[in-house]
Amino acid sequence: MLASVLGCTGSIGLNTINVLEHLDIPIASLAAGKNSVMMEHLARRCKPRLVALFNEEAAADLRVRLADTNIKVLGGQQGVIEAASVKTDVCINAIVGIAGLRPTLAALENSQRIALANKESLVCAGEIIKNYVKRHKVELIPVDSEHSAIFQVLEASNRKMDLKKILLTASGGPFFGMDSEELSSVTLEDALKHPNWEMGPKITVDSATLMNKGLELIEAMRLFEVEADQIQVVIHRESIVHSMVEFVDGSIIAQLGVADMKVPIQYAITYPNREPTEAERLDLFEIGKLSFSPPDHDAFPCLALAIDAAKEGGGACVRLNAANEVAVELFIDRKIRFNHIAEHIRYTSENLAVPVEPSLSEIFEIDAAARQMTYQRAAEFRSF
Ligand code: NDP
Repeated sequence: MLASVLGCTGSIGLNTINVLEHLDIPIASLAAGKNSVMMEHLARRCKPRLVALFNEEAAADLRVRLADTNIKVLGGQQGVIEAASVKTDVCINAIVGIAGLRPTLAALENSQRIALANKESLVCAGEIIKNYVKRHKVELIPVDSEHSAIFQVLEASNRKMDLKKILLTASGGPFFGMDSEELSSVTLEDALKHPNWEMGPKITVDSATLMNKGLELIEAMRLFEVEADQIQVVIHRESIVHSMVEFVDGSIIAQLGVADMKVPIQYAITYPNREPTEAERLDLFEIGKLSFSPPDHDAFPCLALAIDAAKEGGGACVRLNAANEVAVELFIDRKIRFNHIAEHIRYTSENLAVPVEPSLSEIFEIDAAARQMTYQRAAEFRSF
């Protein structure tokens, strides 16, 4: 068995490398954005044939760093696509953002299986990805813990046709219970303190706004072929129940486990087999109680914006994702406040007309236009 890891320097990427080492699976290629120091370390550790960094300057630095090895170093988007195109048994895509979309498509053309963490690929190009999966007869296995849970429930019951609705659990993030006024003064440091999961900065902020759950709702629609109305978001502070499926007879089946991404990453690689892991075991007596409550749409408007986009169609989801990527970047750069994230996404969602079912080239056009509109609006907003 042979693997490739895209987004290898990030939270999921590093966990994936640990899992692959645990399973004794060699790595053929690695790709990331700009972290040449970490990439040098990973290249020496994993000994792939090929490594790629999106950022050309970082790739040039990496070439110098790896000059004493036989590892081929590529730069730019084409380099990342080449790393994704290496023929493997499984490609794990953990790139953050729509930057992962072209590599997802390249991996679908060349690997037997893609373990997909990069949810933005599915949000922006769900139909196109599904067509690639069919055309290239490749397996697409979700890595996101919630989607892994739903996937496992459906696999175990073998009765997808009896699905009534999906209960998509959400931790509620660090600001659970706060109202809009309290949220107007939270800081970046507050937003980056997720109660249960250690993740990259973008998804951590997405979890704080609940946009992450909105993106996951769209991801679930694409993966499991359900309508937005068939997915109910359930706040579950403990992050023990990773999600549930309600069937037509009223039975609900759940998947439970500790909050450790190595478990769903490993399952996406070994499926349909289960291999032992060193993950902590769930001690139900220690947990004692599990809680469930509805999301607060007034305090966290990003979730409703995502549901609206999900109902409107593919183009609206691309627009939502782009506006969110820009707004989160501006918040991380301390250029806008937390509660402005939703305002900027709303503005772009209301003011940019998009087709319902965009082609691949239209997806990138919508992405560029939505980014431009969001940046421009944020610049005007700051000068009010
Ligand atoms: P991180 O920010 O920790 O890592 C992102 C990775 O993407 C880094 O390796 C980064 O490289 C790389 N990257 C960024 N831009 C590019 C680019 N243009 N081309 C190639 N690589 C690029 O994020 P996470 O690991 O937390 O999340 C990754 C994805 O997985 C996201 O889509 C997220 O929503 C999803 N996910 C994450 C979970 C988690 O627990 N973290 C859970 C479920 C899903 P560099 O560091 O060199 O810039």
